[in-house]
Parts: sequence; structure tokens; C-alpha cells
Amino acid sequence: MANANASKKWYSWYFDFNLLYRILIGLALGIILGLIFKDKILWIAPFGDLFVRLLKMIMMPVILSTLIVGASSISPATLGKVGVRILVLYLLTSAFAVSIGLGMGALFHPSAELSGFAEAAGKEAAAPSLAQTLLSIIPTSVAQGIVSETILAVIFFALIFGIGVSSIRSSANERLKAAGDALYVFFEGVAEVMMLIIKGIMQYAPFGVLALVAVVFATNGPRVIGALGVVTAACFVGYALHIIVVYCGLVKTYGGLPIGRYFRDAKDPFITAFVTRSSNGTLPVTMEAADNLGVPKNIYSFSLPLGATINMDGTAIYLGVCSTFIALSVWGHGFNVSQLGIIVVTATLASIGTAGVPGAGAIMLLLVLDSVGLPVTAGSAVAGAYAMILGIDALLDMGRTALNVTGDLSCTTIVASRMKQLDTAKWK
Ligand code: ASP
Repeated sequence: MANANASKKWYSWYFDFNLLYRILIGLALGIILGLIFKDKILWIAPFGDLFVRLLKMIMMPVILSTLIVGASSISPATLGKVGVRILVLYLLTSAFAVSIGLGMGALFHPSAELSGFAEAAGKEAAAPSLAQTLLSIIPTSVAQGIVSETILAVIFFALIFGIGVSSIRSSANERLKAAGDALYVFFEGVAEVMMLIIKGIMQYAPFGVLALVAVVFATNGPRVIGALGVVTAACFVGYALHIIVVYCGLVKTYGGLPIGRYFRDAKDPFITAFVTRSSNGTLPVTMEAADNLGVPKNIYSFSLPLGATINMDGTAIYLGVCSTFIALSVWGHGFNVSQLGIIVVTATLASIGTAGVPGAGAIMLLLVLDSVGLPVTAGSAVAGAYAMILGIDALLDMGRTALNVTGDLSCTTIVASRMKQLDTAKWK
């Protein structure tokens, strides 16, 4: 006992204390300091910039490694009829979810109308034509795509590279298979290391959020508090709408199943995901629910881990709402049609690259913002608005993770039912 106490350092309490509360305290202190000290607190800005730089540093390696791992975990050998159906449902529901998020953004119009930052409002990138946008998805140089942070191009390359890895992994040629496995293990390792680095960076998040938010409130006053409430409401109404329209609608009409009975089992993973904020962590509970619903093991043992890796409807809604909030706060107006198109594509793909762990969606928000000319750079209004989102991210993450796993379970059950593989005796 004496030893245990001796090994405790004076700062151990900081790391032992729940990160979620630490970030919330950072947010609250940032608001208070900003409101009390106004201009006199602006010296704190570099501490916020430090946090922004750390996040930006990690963005590209995270996208590359997680998307490659996500795409290469879809093996063409196991894909078959079930796999293709699941994949199509996962992608369609995610694209729909982003649209709901953007719709909620338009409806709730969350805006902090930030001022006092170096960057002028309305300085967004000139809107490219649709053909230009589509063509720019294919990079003429992969290295340049990464260096110039052309997000869609990097996503495109990571996805086809991942599909390539997965193809050679299932090759009959032993040498190719070994090479594919080695690549997979390599990128899985890189993705794991990136997650570790993010964990480390997040230890600094309470200070980063405090500094960034203090600057926002020092320059904008208390009027921006309400905006965070509106963002939260827009996200949660979007989550609820998606459950009612998409999951209930599909389970009933497309799957031909009774909703009440479905949610009797679906509520367990829903609640577990809500409190753990991790799709991966909830996986055993989601699998048990699928089993209780009569889904055969050969379907759910493939579709649920895949869903926990690539299907994130809640995250997609969050990306839609929060990117709208940041555009409205910084530019003073929402997106044009071509930007909306870019967001639907980027956010759908970003949700594939989102790891099923707490807070991963917030990193993907950086990517979506970049794709429409709202890069989070040190000292910018975008960084201020992004920090405000980070301050309430834990709350938004609870709802989006619950939705992410419900999406996996709903699509899995529907596919099993459509393929007449559901053991309906268990529905009695
Ligand atoms: N926490 C989410 C999940 O595990 C991912 C996210 O942060 O959006 O599904």
C-alpha cells in the first residue's frame, strides 16, 4: 500500500480523473475566464493553437491508416450476397444520415456568429463546378494530394488501396497472400499507434479547449452560449428522426418485422453504446441482441464487426450538423449546392474511416471541414468554433454512438429477414 502511494506522482490525479469531466471543466473555465477577463486573456491563444496543431498533425495519418484498414477488412471472398447487401444498406443509410444532419443544420440554423478573428468572414474557397469537384477526387499525384490535404483525393486513394490489399489477401497465390497480410498488419499497426497518439493528445484537450474557448468568449461575449444548446438540440433531433424514419421504417416495411419486438432486444446495445461511447466496446452486446433476434451467426459475425468499423450513421448526422454550425459561425451563411454534395460524399466516407472508439468522430470533422474550404488553422475562427464543439463532444458522442450500433443491428436484421434466414420463432 505504501508502495502504491509512493509511485503516485503529484500530477497522477489529473490522469486518473475522467477525461470527459476534465474537458467539460476546461470548457466551463474557458467561458468564465473569457467573459471575466475579456481582452486581457488573449495571451492564452497560443495554448489553444498548440492543441489545433497537434490535431492537424494527426489528421492525414489517421485518415490514411483507418480508411485502408476499414476497406481492407471487407474481404471479397466473404463478401458474397449477404456482404453486398449489407454494404449497400450501410452506405445508403450513412449518406441519408448526412443529409438529415445537413437538414437539421438548415432547420436549426446553429450559429455563434464569431467575430474578432484574423480571418475575414466570407473568405471561403470559390465554389468549384460539379465536374471539377468529381474530377478532383482522382489525384494526379498521391503524394501531392496528401501534402496539399486534398481530402477527397486522399480518401479515394486510401479506399482503392485498401480494396487492393483485401484482394491480394484472399489470393490463392501464397506469396501474394503473405504480402497482403503483411500490409494489412502494417496499416493496422499504424492505425493503432495513431489511436494511441490521439489518446495522448486528448490528455491536453482540457487545456486546449479552455484556451480556445476563452478567446472565443473574450472576443464575442456570452451570446455564443446559446449556439451550443442549438447544436446539441439539432444533433439529437436528427438522431431521433433517423431512428424513426430509417430504422423503424426499414425494419417494418423493408424487413417486414414488428418494431416493438425489435426494440425489445435492440435497446440493450443502444443503452450500452450510449454510456460507453464505443461501437467496438459494445460489439458483444450487439451480437447477443442479433442472436436473440434470430439472426444466424454466419451473418452477424461478419456484418456487425464490419458495421462497428465502417457504418456510423450517428457520426454522419453529427458531421452534417457541426459542419453547418461552423460554416454559419464563420462565413455567416450555409453551404451552396456543390458544397452540400461534397459534404455528403466526404462525410459518408469519413464515417467509414471513423474508428468505433470514443471521440473518433471529432477528428473526422476536421476532414469534412477541410473538404469545403474551412480548414482548422491556428488562430482562425474555424478553430474557435471547432473548440466549442469539442467542449460538448462527449454528449454528442453518446447519442451518435447509440445510433451507430443501432444502425449496424437494424441493417443486419433486415438483410437476414430479406434473405429468409431469420429465425422468426425467436420473435414470439
Ligand atoms: N464514438 C463513436 C463510435 O464508437 C465514433 C465517433 O466518435 O463518432 O461509434
